[in-house]
Amino acid sequence: MLVQSKLPQVGTTIFTVMSQLALEHGAVNLGQGFPDFPMSRELTDLVNQAMRDGFNQYTHMNGLPQLRQALARKAAKLYGCNIDADTDITVTPGGTYAIYTALTTVLQPGDEVIVFEPAYDSYIPNIEINGAKAVRIALEYPSYNIPWEQVRASINSRTRLIMINSPHNPTGAVLSESDIASLRSVVAGTEILLLSDEVYEHLIFDGIAHQSLLRYPDLLARSFVCFSFGKTYHCTGWKLGYCISSPELMKEFRKVHQFNCFTCDTPKQVALATYLENESAYQELGSFIQQKRDYFRQLMAETPFRCIPSHGSYFECYSYGHFSQESDRDFAIRLTRDYGIATIPVSAFYKDGKDDKVLRFCFAKQESTLEKAVEQLRRLS
Ligand code: PMP
Ligand code: GLN
Repeated sequence: MLVQSKLPQVGTTIFTVMSQLALEHGAVNLGQGFPDFPMSRELTDLVNQAMRDGFNQYTHMNGLPQLRQALARKAAKLYGCNIDADTDITVTPGGTYAIYTALTTVLQPGDEVIVFEPAYDSYIPNIEINGAKAVRIALEYPSYNIPWEQVRASINSRTRLIMINSPHNPTGAVLSESDIASLRSVVAGTEILLLSDEVYEHLIFDGIAHQSLLRYPDLLARSFVCFSFGKTYHCTGWKLGYCISSPELMKEFRKVHQFNCFTCDTPKQVALATYLENESAYQELGSFIQQKRDYFRQLMAETPFRCIPSHGSYFECYSYGHFSQESDRDFAIRLTRDYGIATIPVSAFYKDGKDDKVLRFCFAKQESTLEKAVEQLRRLS
């Protein structure tokens, strides 16, 4: 049976490709972003307890009320944000789903969405499957800053939405207050919406404060802000996240959500509603992961790679153009096959495959894993 593909130019995501290759070659996997250390025992105990206590049926389609209330309290505490747990938050099966749902909620065929590249690989397919057009703007290499004048010049009557992501995957760049000021001035007086991917909100280093759009009521009124529990609690396999927006936008978001997944895993929501009160679990996360970044960077200094400093996320990028002219895909495959270490070629985050000869490494690993990975890279010259 033939179907007309809705995503004719899309293959299998690079994360699956590289994880599969790592498996085939028994390589250390610093490609796909997931921790190899255990999550909190207390949190898994709470899930088990919730199941034993009988919380095993559908919960509210917008998310367990106690969890939404805990999230509203957290947003108020961290970002001074006044959100209503009834109208402004929806729990979703992961951050990726929240992003897809937000885009599907608002995009009409012919709309334009400004997206910065390198871009997390689901963004552009999510835009295009809705019949909209991704207007791609390259972040400035190698700082990966947003070129705001170019953004301003790209705005027209078809511009429906701008996507931002801080801390940024794959580069670890973070937005500053001055970026927020530029964003505000670009959208002022327009009907442009915002989608802010903040799944790495707590994975931010060097004493930098996360510029959540939840801090800015004027911007939140036109935003979908997307989060993931997987990143915050070292449980990427749980696929649970949430979206915060204005009541008007969230009302439409829920119309799409209710006929897609409808409601998410109940026992995990029960557990998270309790565990969220443990503030140190997320407040200490930045320094815990920063130690890993620092250790990885120190190990990598003994290899020929050049560091492009990360200030957040699970990732740090390294360039190699000064010692190899191979394409980043070929190089990543060769490193997996011959050196036993899997990475992600950053060209996968550009629709046109722009290749700056940069690889992304996930450092959210045990020290022994990082040591084992980098040991092999010392052989490169
Ligand atoms: N956005 C970015 C930038 C990510 O790196 C990820 C990866 N996990 C997600 C969204 C999706 O998160 P989830 O696994 O909760 O769908
Ligand atoms: N967010 C993770 C990464 O960037 C992977 C998620 C996925 O495999 N789709 O590596």
